[in-house]
Amino acid sequence: MKIQFDNSYARLPEDFYSKTNPTPVERPELIKFNTKLAEELGLTSINPDGLNALQVFAGNEIAQGSEPISMAYAGHQFGGFSPRLGDGRAVLLGEVIAPDETRYDFQLKGSGHTPWSRGGDGRSALGPVLREYLVSEAMAKLGVPTTRALAAVTTGEEVARNTLVPGGILTRIAKGFVRVGTFQYFSSQGNQEAIKQLADYEIDRHYPDAKNADNPYVAFFESVVDAQAKLIAKWMSLGFIHGVMNTDNMSIAGETIDYGPCAFMDEFSHNRLYSSIDHQARYAYGNQPKIGQWNLVRLAETLLPLFLDKEFINKEIDETREATDEEAQAVVKIAEDILSRYSDLYHQYWLENMSKKLGLSEEHEGDKELVNDLLNIMESNQADFTLTFFYLSQVGQLEQARALFAKPDFPSTESFDEWVVKWQKRLQQESSNEKKYSAIMQTVNPVYIPRNHQIEAAIRAAEDHNDFSVFHTLHKVLEKPFELQAGKEVYMLPPEPEEVVHQTFCGT
Ligand code: AMP
Ligand code: MG
Repeated sequence: MKIQFDNSYARLPEDFYSKTNPTPVERPELIKFNTKLAEELGLTSINPDGLNALQVFAGNEIAQGSEPISMAYAGHQFGGFSPRLGDGRAVLLGEVIAPDETRYDFQLKGSGHTPWSRGGDGRSALGPVLREYLVSEAMAKLGVPTTRALAAVTTGEEVARNTLVPGGILTRIAKGFVRVGTFQYFSSQGNQEAIKQLADYEIDRHYPDAKNADNPYVAFFESVVDAQAKLIAKWMSLGFIHGVMNTDNMSIAGETIDYGPCAFMDEFSHNRLYSSIDHQARYAYGNQPKIGQWNLVRLAETLLPLFLDKEFINKEIDETREATDEEAQAVVKIAEDILSRYSDLYHQYWLENMSKKLGLSEEHEGDKELVNDLLNIMESNQADFTLTFFYLSQVGQLEQARALFAKPDFPSTESFDEWVVKWQKRLQQESSNEKKYSAIMQTVNPVYIPRNHQIEAAIRAAEDHNDFSVFHTLHKVLEKPFELQAGKEVYMLPPEPEEVVHQTFCGT
């Protein structure tokens, strides 16, 4: 099979990666191929029904033009620094350039041992492969920047987790897999030259406008900060919890990467957390914006030497001259100023998203409180996040929204009713009418999200009964998250008490 690969990352110095071939598997079978994505990427030569394609997605064959590598990176995991992580179970086969000229990484996840595997087996269980396929594709359809899923296969082999479970491999597509942790890898080794090369690479690839700035590296950092603020505001507006926002899981390109213990919440709570390994609740829903900033501080630390003025960088970068105190203070100030703007940027994006969810196109004083009041009432009445906004978006379905707030334990909907009066008063200030703002709301308030219990049902059917129909049906519904689909009402619903998933596990 011929894929027009171009391997710019493999042309970087050798300490950026290890040359690593995937390890073949016994009896691979194709679960799903993303034909539409393949078309968008210009990968029209792939015939998913052919043996060739399956062998490439399974890592059994190296496609012509591919130079497989596993990437080096470090990272802060739950606040503690690991200087050497890297792709322990992923291999970058190469990069493809889409018809619109965008360059994408083409990666296998779960394709076997790499020099970065440490004690791990380099494999992925089938469950997390299905989870990532469903959630990343749903995110894309919900308008969230994200890595994509091109293909999923079973390996015909078992992997040892708590028990023996079937193995799977996911083919992932990303604007780029460089992470905050990639910069940290070189920074912890004091390798300034590599940081500069990496920054130049990322600027060229994702933020070329930064080249025109007085100091391109400062402009680059500003762009990364902006992209993260925008991304996390999107997550928050959809009730998405990433679950493992370590610095090695924060993409420089501003996409959601690494779907481990992620989840969309049902009943709203600022403290909602599903990850089974996050004992300090570090990555709970409400902490995500400030963790985003914490991670960006870690990135800034690696870039500080590049923030010194251009002349210094060009002339003396190789001479490892220590910055003077004055210079050091100046660059810290530059970083701090940008980081302090993160908060404003985030709040601005958040308010834009949330206002739209309430049908507000204009910005008025008090809008932020209006949104927060609703969230607080949702939290105290344990209302479903997605359904609340969905019913508010529908003309004449206020009763259904109200019903979400009436619980057997606290049947009063008084605070909700009072809030509705305030909201409706606020809507009257819009130069719009009910039909118009409902239509706007319906473009941002999904009917369907990948609910945990549905994902779990898809995984159980696949793992326990080799039945992928549940996965396929769920995937199909999530392709059109904003459209009501006849006969698919069950996918709108929160879990029954016995279906509630309380914990999700890292995608290992
Ligand atoms: P994650 O929690 O998926 O972000 O992974 C954190 C680090 O652990 C990365 O360096 C991964 O490559 C590595 N890792 C996770 N699972 C495995 C595995 N099954 N085998 C080898 N390395 C792994
Ligand atoms: Mg990771």
